[in-house]
This record gives sequence, structure tokens and C-alpha cells, in this order.
Amino acid sequence: MEFLLTNRPRYYFRQISDIPRASRNEKAICEYIAAFAQRQGLEYKSDEAYNIIVNKPATKGYEDVPAIILQAHTDMVCEKNKGVEHDFDRDPLDLYVDEEGFLHARGTTLGADDGYGVAYMLAILEDTTLKHPALQCAFTSMEEIGLLGAQKLKKEDFYGKRYINLDAGGEDQTAVSSSGGTRTKIERKLAFEENDAPSYTLRIRGLQGGHSAGMIHLERGNAIQIAARVLYALSDKCNDLKLCDFNGGDKINAIPRECDVTFSTHADLSDIRTCAQAPIDQIGKELQYSDAGFHAFLEETAKCDKSLSIEDSRQIINFLYVLPNGLQHRSMAIEGLSVASLNLGAIAFENDSLRINHLIRSAAASHGDQMIAQLAILSENFGFHFEVISRYYGWDYEKDSPFRNILKEVLKEKGIEMKEHASHGGLECGVFKGMIPELDLISYGPISEGAHSPQEKMDLSSFDRCYDTLVKILENAK
Ligand SMILES: [Zn+2]
Repeated sequence: MEFLLTNRPRYYFRQISDIPRASRNEKAICEYIAAFAQRQGLEYKSDEAYNIIVNKPATKGYEDVPAIILQAHTDMVCEKNKGVEHDFDRDPLDLYVDEEGFLHARGTTLGADDGYGVAYMLAILEDTTLKHPALQCAFTSMEEIGLLGAQKLKKEDFYGKRYINLDAGGEDQTAVSSSGGTRTKIERKLAFEENDAPSYTLRIRGLQGGHSAGMIHLERGNAIQIAARVLYALSDKCNDLKLCDFNGGDKINAIPRECDVTFSTHADLSDIRTCAQAPIDQIGKELQYSDAGFHAFLEETAKCDKSLSIEDSRQIINFLYVLPNGLQHRSMAIEGLSVASLNLGAIAFENDSLRINHLIRSAAASHGDQMIAQLAILSENFGFHFEVISRYYGWDYEKDSPFRNILKEVLKEKGIEMKEHASHGGLECGVFKGMIPELDLISYGPISEGAHSPQEKMDLSSFDRCYDTLVKILENAK
């Protein structure tokens, strides 16, 4: 079926679907919004990251009410089905509606994440019949590649003290918490020397891994940490153990599933096997319910020409053995919510140096500070260099939120009971909360499915209803 443009939010969704807007290709959408603001006679400000903020004054009777920030991201994930000819740098999306009333893009992602929010804000900015406090509509860039645009915003451009994130779904729920994320790097120069001892490789296999936000609480094995435990037991027995190579994990936000460590020792092979098997069996037992596929084995390999010294090897193994990893805290306010964790995501010997990457997540900045300091202190004491690569803040749950109560009341009038949703992942909400600590936040959006895949679809009647709800929230925000 055809996508009928029966209202202004639909009209703007159609308009922005004609503008390619992959992450980092957001100049055109930013210019489109700037031209729109000019036509509407609205004050706006854009920056070199292609974020753009459009301000709309309060309507009559709302002049003394604190302003509201609305926010959505302009970029979309660009995925297409195999065999589909679509150039995401040039081609408009091919929209259609299925029999169940869901909007799709033929063969590609739809970009309802987060096009719905962009369309809503444009419709609200345009409509002079609405009633609302002063509005600040923030269109942010590069959300899908690490909330990069939002992190470039400047606090002084905002005077709103309440905020609606339009990058959520479900129609009946709001986000109430998200985690901040800190990427860290630990490094150390490696001094290799000639090696004359036989070499072996320890391989850790069969682990499930998973995303470090949603799965960190499931007690899945971390391949790097497991390798460190086996090596720690080995280095006790083989007191001439020397590391030759160490490689585990690749993505900082994924729990590492595999790890390979090559080392040299003159110890007897059967002694090595016996010694390694004890921790492998113990770990297998620990993981029997959470990661039953785990296995590890030793292989004889060609003799390494070079290895680290015995002392350096021992120090690296000890360091890895004590490095914190995994879930640190869970919420006592929200059932099942992880609120502080570390993911020891990757380790590699490369170009004569050792690199270790962690992704630290925390809803409260104080937990993040603590974990960062722990890594820094440990690194310093073991002779490693520690560095924070990047950091954005989280949004810790707040029991009292007057703005959330307004949403709750509006939904109640429509016969919907508001649900609260919390995530250990990162949201732009957290970036805003970090920038403006006194902010009272909610999120809202229509029913959609399959985000980030060509199966992405949005319920059009929900899209229409949620717009009305949003308008009502603004009207009630006295
Ligand atoms: Zn999104």
C-alpha cells in the first residue's frame, strides 16, 4: 500500500526519507532543517558536527513555564538486503505500507530510528496552533556510531530544564535510566629477547560472548580473564614461563569469546598439561550453567624466536589476574538492571607493545569514577600506562520526576498504564543529563520493530497516536 501523507508528521517523515542520512553524512539533513527554520522564522544554531538546535518561543500563557528540550538524532543505520540496489549516499528510501499498517522501506532500513523523532519535531516547530512552553529542538548527529554528535553539544546553548528524548519506542513506556560509557586503554612497551625453550599455545574456545551492556550480568566467561587464570596456575608450576604472544577479543563492547596465548617453557609437557587442566576443569564447572560450551586446550607450536623475560611475563600474568571485569553493581530500585560494569574487551601484542581495552559502563558517574581510578591505580603499580580514550555520562534512576508524572497522567487519560524501562546501554539522555545535571528527563516514541536491519518497520497508527500524545504532554507541561 501507498504511504498516505494524511498529517504533517507523516509529511515530514516522507521528506526526510528522501535525504540520505547515514552517520557522518549529515550535512544535507542539517541544511534541510536550517532552511526549514529560516522559512518558519525560528532561531537556530548548528555546529561543525552537524548538530542543529531550533528554538521556538512559548505560546500565550506559557511564558513563565520553564523551557523543554526535545531531542532526536538525524542519522540512521544503513543496512540493505543482499541483492538490493540502493546507494545510501544518494537514493531516497522506497517507502510502503504493509497489510498490517506498518511502514517499511523496500529492501533497506527504514530509519524510523530515529526519523520519527525528527519528523515529530519539525511538525511541532511548524504548527502555530499548539500550546506549549518555550521549546528547544535538538537534532543530533552521529548517534549510531557512539553518540558522537550529542557529546559535541555545548551546555550554554540550552536553557531548558526538562527534556524529552524521541529515540525510544513502545508507546506505553519511558526510559528512566541509562549507563554512561568509558573506553580505556592500558599499554606497556614489550622487551623481547631470544628464546630457546619449546613453545605452546593455550586456546580458549566455545564461549558465548555477547553485548557488554545487555549480557554482562549473565555470568558468561570472559576468554581473556580465563586465559589469565590458566596462565597464573601454569606460571606457578613452570617457573621459567615466558610469554611470546597474547591475543583475545576484538570489540570493546563485546564479551571476548576467544583468546590465544603462546608461551615458552622447559617444563615437561605432561606436567604442563596436568597443571593447566586443573583450572580449566574448575572454570568449566563454574560455567556449567551459564556457558556450557567452554573448552580450552594446549597445542605444541613451532618454537618462538623471541619471548618476554620471565619477570615481565609473570608481571603481565599477575596484572591480568587481578584486573577487574564483569558486573560490579546492580540496581536495588529496578529489578534486573545492571548499573556498573567493566568489560575487559580486548588484549593484543602489537608492534612491541601490549594493549588492553576496557569498556566501563555506569549509570552513576561516581561508580564510573571509581572503576576508572581502580584501573589507573592498578596500571601504575604494575608499570603499565593507563589512558581514558573517551567518556560519556549515564542517567541514574531518580525516584521523583515531575515530568515523568505528566507523561504518566497523559497516558492514563488515554487508558494506558505507563511502564518504566531502564538500560545498561548508552543513550543520548545520559549525555544530556551529564551536560545539564538538573534536567528532568523522559523518553517517548511509537511502536516499531527490527531497528538496524532491513526488517525495520513502524506501526503507522501508533506513529499518529504518539504524536498526539506528545502534543498533549507539551500542553500539560505547565
Ligand atoms: Zn536511535
